[in-house]
Amino acid sequence: MSSEVQTDSMPAVSVPVAKDGLRPAPAASGATNLFGLDRLSLREQFAGIGEKPWRADQIMQWIYRRGVDDFAAMSNLSRDLRARLEASFVVRPPQLLAEQRSVDGTRKWVLRIGEGQAIETVFIPDKGRGTLCISSQVGCAMDCAFCSTAQQGLNRNLDVAEIVAQVWFAAKALGGDFQNERVISNVVFMGMGEPLANYGALIPAIRILQDDFGFGLSKRRVTVSTSGLVPFIDRLREAVDTALAISLHAPDDTLRNELVPINRKYPLAELMDACRRYTAGRDHKMHVVYEYVMLDGVNDSPALARDLARLLGGMPAKVNLIPFNPFPQTRFRRSRPEAIEAFAGVLRGKNILATTRRTRGEDIDAACGQLVGKVLNKQKRRLSDIPVRVA
Ligand code: SAH
Repeated sequence: MSSEVQTDSMPAVSVPVAKDGLRPAPAASGATNLFGLDRLSLREQFAGIGEKPWRADQIMQWIYRRGVDDFAAMSNLSRDLRARLEASFVVRPPQLLAEQRSVDGTRKWVLRIGEGQAIETVFIPDKGRGTLCISSQVGCAMDCAFCSTAQQGLNRNLDVAEIVAQVWFAAKALGGDFQNERVISNVVFMGMGEPLANYGALIPAIRILQDDFGFGLSKRRVTVSTSGLVPFIDRLREAVDTALAISLHAPDDTLRNELVPINRKYPLAELMDACRRYTAGRDHKMHVVYEYVMLDGVNDSPALARDLARLLGGMPAKVNLIPFNPFPQTRFRRSRPEAIEAFAGVLRGKNILATTRRTRGEDIDAACGQLVGKVLNKQKRRLSDIPVRVA
């Protein structure tokens, strides 16, 4: 089995690897990658080597507030401590395999994740904000009918460091000043993978994104998007405070079972109850975003819009209509613009907030649902192979 990562199918807009002064990842070693430790874990590690816990805070600031990955440059640490850090830890970003830039400013990075595998991270600049779309798994097991990541199945979960380092890498590549100018204002778990199926790594990663000594992103600027793993929606609420997006795509179980197969395990009634619990008792502005991919002749009729309005009526909800992004061998087509407008009109007529997502990065296959990574030694595990109910 080859351990090489294919990059030959990238279009001509690719720019060479190791641009922007990024160093290639050092050779793998047994050292702990600090991108994988949230503040509490880092303090514990430091206590373990006889260091004061607040040293952890200093080091996090170097890494996340100043973009420094070299212990030698951490000038407020003693020479002795720097030497000891170097012996046990690394700050190791992922290796860049390819970068593409869209005419609309969207940028996509293909990042090497271990042997023979890669994930994709996408930056989408918009008026007054910059959203980074990150991956949580290599591939995905959810098997949604209209998603190209689904076609490769799940290879493995990303670890905390692999999730967090995507943000660090992008911030660095975008050339922003880590301290003042925030190029990345929002992070969304809408890249490859089902974040709630990788709950154990997701939570510490979110803590680092939101920590004042980490990326310092405010709570609602981190969005977890899920196909609907109900028990983990409750656990997410207990663990962290983030925005929630649900990949709904259908207002009834029959259709949703086909489009989003996890619905067979957690049907709509259970999902909607979990969404109610998620917003209950929070500040009045918190709503759940319901993503709804617009598939021509499948889920885009005015009758289904009325059903959707009924389903969401009385809930703190916002619907985000996503024009379907096609990929090779898909049986679906994008809804006509008039159908999308009519659908949104029905929702608004019933007092449901509805927006249509502008498609971005289409020319570089960076649009929603087009992220596939380049995985050779894949195991192709699917939903049916993986127990997702928690005991
Ligand atoms: N697994 C998570 C996050 C990744 S998908 C989830 O399901 O939410 C991010 C969003 O892109 C989801 O709403 C997903 O349904 C949508 N999506 C997937 N494939 C798409 C496609 N081909 N066109 C448009 N949106 C798509």
